[in-house]
Amino acid sequence: MTNRIHLSSPHMGGTEQKYIQEAFDTNWIAPLGANVNGFESEIAQFVGIKAASATSSGTGAIHLALDLLGIKTGDEVFCSTLTFIASANPILYLGAKPVFIDSEPTTWNMSPQALKQALEEAATEGKLPKAVIVVNLYGQSARMDEILALCEQYDVPIIEDAAESLGSLYKGKKSGTFGKLGIYSFNGNKIITTSGGGMLVSDDEELIARSRFLATQARDAAKHYQHSVVGYNYRMSNIIAGIGRGQLEVIAERVAQKRAIFERYEAAFSGIDGIEMMPELENTFSNRWLSTMTLDPSKIKIAPYALMEILDEANIDSRPVWKPLHMQPLFEGCKFYAHSKETVVSEELFATGICLPSDSKMTVEEQERVINIILNIL
Ligand SMILES: *Cc1c(COP(=O)(O)O)cnc(C)c1O
Repeated sequence: MTNRIHLSSPHMGGTEQKYIQEAFDTNWIAPLGANVNGFESEIAQFVGIKAASATSSGTGAIHLALDLLGIKTGDEVFCSTLTFIASANPILYLGAKPVFIDSEPTTWNMSPQALKQALEEAATEGKLPKAVIVVNLYGQSARMDEILALCEQYDVPIIEDAAESLGSLYKGKKSGTFGKLGIYSFNGNKIITTSGGGMLVSDDEELIARSRFLATQARDAAKHYQHSVVGYNYRMSNIIAGIGRGQLEVIAERVAQKRAIFERYEAAFSGIDGIEMMPELENTFSNRWLSTMTLDPSKIKIAPYALMEILDEANIDSRPVWKPLHMQPLFEGCKFYAHSKETVVSEELFATGICLPSDSKMTVEEQERVINIILNIL
């Protein structure tokens, strides 16, 4: 039996254990220490932002971001619909109501057209959202210029969910640095990983300082244990941060590997009518975290799920595109704004999309095995 080919598995660079050893040598086995401080400043420097705060997960970072913006019970928060559940779960943690915004075809991300309609209606009803969570799917940046202009017009802050897009660019600027707050994830399958962890970033240093306070149980400045607001236990451990520092040293290499994987798929499938690879918007640079394509059902005989099954039998991982959140039982009854009257772009992408194995440890020969199986079926 051949080795299983993974979708995206942890890929260590080699120096991670040096940082972990330092934590042991100095006995900083805690949610603070040199690795946490170092990882925060190295991420801030890498993405070009003033401040960063390391968290125990990307989900925790989104929760903190919403809390920092004052989101409370009954508030509305707009969120991209085509994303992983973690983008929206923290809205529910705070008792707020998510409103989902469709995708558009050039980025698969939030449709400015749908967002505009949602904001106009909200303004008419006198109930603007308290925040907009914009996701950068599979490494591709959303249409940030249009989205930023709309949110500025209505004075609504953006939280950029860049969990999948660390290392990506939009018009030369790093993904995750466009909103009031941005978040990254270092879960096991992400482009770099700490086994689990996240980062909250902002140019507002006071907000980031407050996020550290909230993430450590919101303890007031008193000698005794005194608390005036709800806090969390969301800080990253100094051991985990050591893995992150080692991983950050190889991010450029990982992005290059992911992009090379995408380009090999693109070249192999370019002659097949009915296969579309995920687009890359002009003036953006995607980290190509997952290589993703759609199969046009009028031209390709096999359905995405049947193809995924055949790949699985050949010991190859693949995944459907995220199931849109407005279709999830958990969010039944939530408001949703489609890209247009004729098309719900996210639903089409969900019905026709496949995430191909995009493991940076995959060899060229292994990728050829994947490609040949797909070419044979088609
Ligand atoms: C992975 C992911 C998250 C959550 O990150 P965790 O670190 O796993 O909590 C949030 N949003 C998106 C889009 C993700 O892919």
